[in-house]
Amino acid sequence: MDRSSSLWTLVALLGGLGVVGCGGCEDGPAAEAQVQWFEAEPLLANLRAEDRRGAAGFVAPRALDAIPLHDLEVQVADDLSTFTAVEELYFTNTTGAELPTVVLRLYGNAVGDAPRIRVRQSGCVGARCAIAVERSAIEVRPAAPLPAGGRLRIRLELEGDLQRIDPQRSSLLGQAMEGMGRMAGGGGAGHGDYGLLAHGSGIASLGNFYATVAPRREGAWVRGDDSTLGDLGADGIVHFRAKVRAPQGAQVAITGTTTAERTVLGRNGQPGHTEVEAVAGLTRNFAIVLGRDFEVATAEVDGVTVRSFFLPAHRGPGEAALETARHALHTFHQRFGPYPYRDLEIVEAPLVGGAGGVEFSGLVTVAQMFYGGGSGGALGMLGGLLGGGAGGDPTGGMQGAMLDFVVAHEVAHQWWHGLVGSDAREHPFVDESLAQFSAMLYVEERFGAERAEQEGRRQVASNYHFMRLQGHADGAVDRPVAAFGDEMAYAGLVYGKGPYLYPALREAVGERAFFAGIRDYVRTHRFGEAAPRALVDRLARGRHARAVRRLERHWLEESHGDEDLGQADFGSLAGAWLGDGAGGLGALLGGGAGGAGGGDIMQLLGPLLGGGGGGAGTGAGGGAAGGMDSAEALRDALRALEGMR
Ligand SMILES: [Zn+2]
Repeated sequence: MDRSSSLWTLVALLGGLGVVGCGGCEDGPAAEAQVQWFEAEPLLANLRAEDRRGAAGFVAPRALDAIPLHDLEVQVADDLSTFTAVEELYFTNTTGAELPTVVLRLYGNAVGDAPRIRVRQSGCVGARCAIAVERSAIEVRPAAPLPAGGRLRIRLELEGDLQRIDPQRSSLLGQAMEGMGRMAGGGGAGHGDYGLLAHGSGIASLGNFYATVAPRREGAWVRGDDSTLGDLGADGIVHFRAKVRAPQGAQVAITGTTTAERTVLGRNGQPGHTEVEAVAGLTRNFAIVLGRDFEVATAEVDGVTVRSFFLPAHRGPGEAALETARHALHTFHQRFGPYPYRDLEIVEAPLVGGAGGVEFSGLVTVAQMFYGGGSGGALGMLGGLLGGGAGGDPTGGMQGAMLDFVVAHEVAHQWWHGLVGSDAREHPFVDESLAQFSAMLYVEERFGAERAEQEGRRQVASNYHFMRLQGHADGAVDRPVAAFGDEMAYAGLVYGKGPYLYPALREAVGERAFFAGIRDYVRTHRFGEAAPRALVDRLARGRHARAVRRLERHWLEESHGDEDLGQADFGSLAGAWLGDGAGGLGALLGGGAGGAGGGDIMQLLGPLLGGGGGGAGTGAGGGAAGGMDSAEALRDALRALEGMR
């Protein structure tokens, strides 16, 4: 360990704040001028030809090599419990003003009880700088302020822990019970921790594991988050280049296009490795998910290679996820405009904290709980409901229908937040409500309007109904994540009510104008960032302007949810799932077996139904007193069910 890391360790021990000098860095502006920079062109290999050609235009007036590059060398331990990463971040000051500091964020350290990622070494390449680390913020202070247009190459050595997630915990029942626990406990611990840095079932998931340039708001760096609910991470466009060393034989799902893959055999008793190299130009974020036993199913659609990664025992759901992704990609490609990348990966992952899936550029993780298995004894009673659909339709059962909807929602994020950026912290409705609407659109085009309406009721509006049944008031959809107070209000309004703005707009302006408007919105903001109301503004043209503005206020600012979406009780919410083919179970539960009423089964399922499509946690949080009583009642009911079996 050298001087700088010892110092960091010492100061970290003293108070959680580390200040690191620049060990072995060269001096002065002359050295800075000689800092080797990267070539952008080879990084764009992940883009489809059309977007590769237009790339410079999308980011103008910035040059392609003024977009930050994250150059990563990642190694995952053979037991999947830890990782190391060497990161070089190529940063160009494009703010137009001098910068005394550059602030980076390690979002993986923003959630959970203790930081999981440690900075072992840090410095600037070819320049003198001081670096201070405080949990999720890394402040880089060059010896002289970085002028407008100035470049800085920051080097970090990171090591981190991958939280172990027990298969029982990442199962549907495990996640339902955990949601109940959060509800009874008033949220709190684990809030916003969705298992992005974790391993379980031989799968290692690395999301938010690298340092990224902090967002800027009103001319200042954003160093912390006033809430950890929902998606954390930067919203800007960046490039990645990565080398990953995984245990030998592991299948590696990764953002971007793989440019090299090789097996390095072990020698002298040392284990071998699988090495993968990838590039990902013009993306928003980056993830690696690797599985010792992953199987892969592949399809081609509209020139895109779609891969589904799943455990061998989950082949059925894994292939169903591929089918969903294929159909969803095609629908959105047609309706919204072309998908920009050559690859799309759908990956089973041990997500927790109520997250149904998490989106990254070109890669989406989908919660293991929708793939079945590992569910524990009590689920036996619910198996008929949750599991296999009638007539071999993999999307027919409850679990299958949820998997279908979640995959479509996450694929939609490739457009909403991926291709068209938006501020996910200040205006989370922009991408989340659109992703929910898009998932309903996918169901409509694949299975028809009636099924779309049904899935809307079960997987979208139920968020709103569940929120209301827990005693939360209706309210404005467009507000910052932190202004929702808890998970339930956030899920109810952003995932439950907000999505219905779009069918209303579609009806008001007509089919043609609606989709032409969306395509124009995507074209205008491709690889950029859209203002929160930009899509509404685009549709509020000509003779429909007044009607569009009225709908905008109605759905985004005012409180008409009860009239628009109707009022529901637990019985009718449960009925939406129990209705067909599960009458016996419904009657059993309705008859109060072991104290379990229809209401209680809904209490169990609610945290999951609550927008299983959520990239964000949609479990129950906060909770009125009634919620706590129900949570207790359901625990009893589950114990009773387990006993009966
Ligand atoms: Zn989402």
